[in-house]
Amino acid sequence: MAMWNPWRGCHRHSEGCQYCYIHKGDFKRGVDTNQIVKTDNFYAPVAKNKSGAYKIKSGQLVYLCFSTDFLIEDADHWREECWRMIQERQDLHFLFLTKRIERFLDCIPEDWNDGYDNVTVGCTVENQSRADERLSLFQKLPIKHRNIICQPLIGPIDLSAYLENTELVVVGGESDKNARPLNYQWVLAIREQCVSHHVHFEFRQCGTHFIKDGKTYTLNVRDLCSQARKAGINC
Ligand code: SF4
Repeated sequence: MAMWNPWRGCHRHSEGCQYCYIHKGDFKRGVDTNQIVKTDNFYAPVAKNKSGAYKIKSGQLVYLCFSTDFLIEDADHWREECWRMIQERQDLHFLFLTKRIERFLDCIPEDWNDGYDNVTVGCTVENQSRADERLSLFQKLPIKHRNIICQPLIGPIDLSAYLENTELVVVGGESDKNARPLNYQWVLAIREQCVSHHVHFEFRQCGTHFIKDGKTYTLNVRDLCSQARKAGINC
C-alpha cells in the first residue's frame, strides 16, 4: 500500500465535510486548508531510485488524494499529468474517493474510454439525499472499478437502486466530540442491501457517538476502527 497526495487542501463541499479531519488537523497547525497547493510528492509514482527502479514497488494499491479530493476544481490544470503517471504505472492500482462525482466527465483524460483498468473510484455519500444525487450519476459513468463510501454515515440510506456493478460498500461513522451519531441499525440495513446484491461490505469505523439497541455510547477516537472490526460483520 502506498499514499500519493499530488496536492493538498480542500474546500468543504457537503454535510459530510462538517468535521473533516483534514480541516481539523490543518487548523491545529495554522494551515489554511482552502489553499490548494501542489506537494513535493507530485511525481511520486514515477520517481526512481539511483538504480533506475521505481520507488513505489510494483503490485501495490496506491491511495490517491486521501488528504484532498482528486476532482477538486483548483487542481484542473494539474490532473492531466497525474493521469499520464497513472497510465505509465499499469503495474499499480490507484484508488481515489470523491464527493465531487458530478465533475467526473470534465476531469477524465481523452484516452479514458470506458475506464482505466488500474483505477477504482469511490463515490462518497453521507445520507439519502446525497446518495440519490451522486449515485444516480455515478452508476452511469464509464468506470471499471467502483466503490460506494458511506462515511461519515449521518442518516439511514437505501442503496438498493445503486448497487449494480459496485465492488465494495464501506460504512463508517463520524469522529469528533460533536459528531452526529451513528445508528447501528443503519449499518446493518446497508449490509443487508449488499448481501442481497452480492456486493462486498465493510464496516470500517464506529462513530464517536454510537447508538446500539437504543443506547448511545461515546467511544474513544482510537477505538473506532477496532470496535467496528469487533462487530465481525464484513462480508
Ligand atoms: S471533500 Fe473530503 S477532504 Fe474535502 S473537505 Fe470534504 S471531507 Fe474534507
